Amino acid sequence: MPEQMLVDSLLEAWPHDDAYARSIQAAAAAIIVAVRADRANRTVLDRFLAEYGLSNREGIALMCLAEALLRIPDSNTADRLIADKIGVGEWSSHLGQSDDMLVNASTWALILTGQVVSVDRAFSANPATWLRQLANRLGEPVIQGAVRQAMRILGTEFVLGRTIEEALKRSAAHHAYSYDMLGEAARDGASAERYFGAYRHAIESLEASVQDGEAERSSVSVKLSALHPRYEFAQRERVLAELGPRICALAELAAEIGIGLTIDAEEADRLDLSLDLFEHVAKSVQPVDGPGVGIVIQAYGKRALPVIDWTIALARDIGRRIPVRLVKGAYWDAEIKHAQVMGYPDFPVFTRKAATDLSYLVCARKILAHPAEIAGQFATHNAHTVAAVMALAGEARNFEFQRLHGMGESLYAAAAKQYENFPALRVYAPVGSHEDLLAYLVRRLLENGANTSFVNRVLNERLPPEQIATDPVGVVRSTTPAAHPGITQPAALFGPTRVNSSGLDLTDPDHVARLQRRCVRPLSSPLRAASILAGHPGGGAGRAVFNPANRDEHLGYCADADQSEIERAFELASGAQADWDAAGGEGRARLLEAVADKMEDERERLIPILVKEAGKTLPDAIAEIREAVDFCRYYAAEARRLFADPRRLPGPTGESNLLSLHGRGVFVCISPWNFPLAIFAGQIAAALMAGNAVIAKPAEETPLIAFEAVRLMHSAGIPVNALNLITVDGSVGEALVRHSQTAGVAFTGSTQAARLINRSLAARDAPVAPLIAETGGQNAMFVDSSALLEQVTDDVIQSAFGSAGQRCSALRVLYLQEDIADKAIDMIAGAMDELRVGNPARLDTDVGPIISEDAAASLRAHVREMDGRGACRHVAPLAGECEKGTFVAPALLEIDSINALAREHFGPILHVVRFQGSRFASAVRDAMSSGYGLTLGLHSRIEARAEKLSELVPVGNVYVNRNMIGAVVGSQPFGGQGLSGTGPKAGGPHYLLRFATEKTLTLNTTATGGNAELLSLDADSP
Ligand SMILES: Cc1cc2nc3c(=O)[nH]c(=O)nc-3n(C[C@H](O)[C@H](O)[C@H](O)COP(=O)(O)OP(=O)(O)OC[C@H]3O[C@@H](n4cnc5c(N)ncnc54)[C@H](O)[C@@H]3O)c2cc1C
Repeated sequence: MPEQMLVDSLLEAWPHDDAYARSIQAAAAAIIVAVRADRANRTVLDRFLAEYGLSNREGIALMCLAEALLRIPDSNTADRLIADKIGVGEWSSHLGQSDDMLVNASTWALILTGQVVSVDRAFSANPATWLRQLANRLGEPVIQGAVRQAMRILGTEFVLGRTIEEALKRSAAHHAYSYDMLGEAARDGASAERYFGAYRHAIESLEASVQDGEAERSSVSVKLSALHPRYEFAQRERVLAELGPRICALAELAAEIGIGLTIDAEEADRLDLSLDLFEHVAKSVQPVDGPGVGIVIQAYGKRALPVIDWTIALARDIGRRIPVRLVKGAYWDAEIKHAQVMGYPDFPVFTRKAATDLSYLVCARKILAHPAEIAGQFATHNAHTVAAVMALAGEARNFEFQRLHGMGESLYAAAAKQYENFPALRVYAPVGSHEDLLAYLVRRLLENGANTSFVNRVLNERLPPEQIATDPVGVVRSTTPAAHPGITQPAALFGPTRVNSSGLDLTDPDHVARLQRRCVRPLSSPLRAASILAGHPGGGAGRAVFNPANRDEHLGYCADADQSEIERAFELASGAQADWDAAGGEGRARLLEAVADKMEDERERLIPILVKEAGKTLPDAIAEIREAVDFCRYYAAEARRLFADPRRLPGPTGESNLLSLHGRGVFVCISPWNFPLAIFAGQIAAALMAGNAVIAKPAEETPLIAFEAVRLMHSAGIPVNALNLITVDGSVGEALVRHSQTAGVAFTGSTQAARLINRSLAARDAPVAPLIAETGGQNAMFVDSSALLEQVTDDVIQSAFGSAGQRCSALRVLYLQEDIADKAIDMIAGAMDELRVGNPARLDTDVGPIISEDAAASLRAHVREMDGRGACRHVAPLAGECEKGTFVAPALLEIDSINALAREHFGPILHVVRFQGSRFASAVRDAMSSGYGLTLGLHSRIEARAEKLSELVPVGNVYVNRNMIGAVVGSQPFGGQGLSGTGPKAGGPHYLLRFATEKTLTLNTTATGGNAELLSLDADSP
């Protein structure tokens, strides 16, 4: 439902009563006044946020330090990180800005590290000079120790104890707690197992500590993503089978001692799955006594209210009250980005803060109206939200508030004084070591540092209490449109010139069921591919095409062209080119946009062909169609920009100079099997938009999808003679290149084939034709010890094994700093074991087949040979169905240098090289010595390193702190240097120009008798 409609319906569900709103606002303002007065109880965090919120450079730098410093094992990298982050700030500008004694006394690092570095007299005399000197001396261990210590202190603000025993000791007798065992989302089975053990141990420890009649004082909060390495919708069956029993076991243990267990809420993509699991546990575990299993609902989610209705129904069904913790939600920024990246039709969350607040209030109202079904737990640090819940509750006190450890202390102290018989308060208490704290800490810092956050605003004394306590309902009412115009909708990401391609949500059970049905069952009748000349498919039966995931599945036939058809294709294309060129940029663009729309309309017909013929997994198939659509829309926009009208150039008066761009003639487009739709359509679209006629030759492995694509383009209006398809094997492709009428070649494939094409073109007695070649890469990623290994693991797995490593951008050689190499290899190997290699038609498959038996055999031979040299570190398992197809198990091989590889191994094989932290530069030189220059990845929190690297390395695409595949058209134009290709980059602003020829038209406007323009110039004009 569009945000406006949803917000309108929330407004209807809230009482329209100004006096009521004013009384809540007044109560909230009174709490704020009390909180501000309570300076003695301000936490270190409060002081930190007041001075270094997210809104200044220093605040961001310190957050980066906080996030990374604790996990860096070597002093060299730690020093660099400190220098990097401290270097960006204007630290002295913060001096004297705060009236807080501590903040004012030094920079934040020093405030918190008073124990380690005493602030000496030099500092008090001249703080700015002292800070500069400090920055110069950063390498000194004492400073490094000081900053580390600072991070630790900040960490302990949020953590109740490193172990449950320590936490229990530190817990205050008068508080109720919900203990959370800190942990990153698990990437491998071992981490999930460890986390499960920590929970079991925590619950058992609580049993020992819980006194009679005090069980309700304790509970635990569980993050499901830490309990299973693949807690995602695509793995639903596996998650229900493996995680279901685990969570039931914990819930039973908790139920036995009468304590509550709450399932934390995570990303919106996981909502359906978490509800399935919750229902399962709620129905399976019936506590004799005590609160039982509870759920968290995020008010920022557009589905919040229906989820509450669902919970009420479930409570009635199981005949038990369900604890519901209502939060606003902690992943707002991530949800917005994810929806944009995936091209979803809309965001799963509200886009204005006030709408989230309104949603919270409407949800709270519903919860409080159903006390028999729901035990309300209102988790917030916002005074207005507290006051509103109190107003809604009236006299009722059958609910509780919750706050996070280290936050909200003075808020609830003030509220408890203000209201009679204030409800119970529970503290959410993270337990864990500093290493485990990071993800949690970053969330908290981000949340509280944001200038929309209540905590941040309350610290800003310039804002009057009434303003901070403004009624959000009033704000929502007076704000149009409901959707924040500053947050770009996924479809509008590329502005007015083109619509973003739309994605398909593979966490939507309906979409998934429909797609899977189409992909799993055999095609209703065999497909047929053949050359298409003048819009007519050629005849003949041709060779059979099989599914590489199941060689028994016959997909169809391909009739290959003979020499006479090639001649005919050139005849037709040359005949059509002038008219097509004359259609102009605008005319051609409109037709290509129609192609893009049609491709989106027909994607559910195209996806099964991509899955069966090219072995694409479902997410890869969707991404491929999106890329093809993006190419069409992008090049259409480029055609308008560059080809619509001639450009007027400067010159003397009495003369007009016009520069226009035109097609070169007949372009031959030769595309590979690994992106049989996206690259195929991308090359054709670019050549056509520049005004060329096209002869397209798809890879011999994937003619079926190419045939369908050309039919689709013709049916969308591309003139049939301007686009001809020739289906042939490699050797006949050579005949296309050699043809005297070939005016240019766009080629994507191996470096070797590109060289042959180059020679063939050069050998012709014909005009010299351009070759646009995009070839392979020996792509490297560098990981230093400041990187977050969980994130590295995700990105390595996607980059090396996604699409079975059959992408030219795929990661081939991973350079790991030796200090973290063993840990990283273990985590990556663990994550490899969690991959499902098998039939790509199944949603739960991560890695599909290798395109041909020859290719698979060569990859296996390479692994065998390396294994013989003792290089093999890990091989992932294959699913049973792999016997029928051409699969290769993902492998991790350790080598000394990239030079151990004679060529690119185009499959799911990852090579690892270790490097010393102090020898980063020579590791980079090693990687570059291959001569390829396509993609390069870096995982590091040291920004200067990223900047320097991207400046120095001769590669086409550099990716920092993310995966290195899946370049987005128009955002990350794709293509390499050196052995990796000629450029210009596909999907970039210079690409179409290479397909074009230029013409200037100079007119002497005085030739017909005098310069009328000059003579009629107005004498008075300036
Ligand atoms: C005890 C406890 C347990 C928690 N458990 C969970 C959990 O399981 N899962 C989880 O996700 N979070 C959880 N949280 C975190 C919680 O979501 C945040 O602390 C909360 O959002 C902050 O809300 P507030 O009312 O304190 O602050 P406020 O400052 O009033 O609200 C800030 C929130 O508003 C929302 N917001 C900010 N900007 C926008 C915008 N432009 N459009 C729409 N919404 C916006 C965001 O949700 C942001 O976090 C928990 C918090 C507590 C106290």
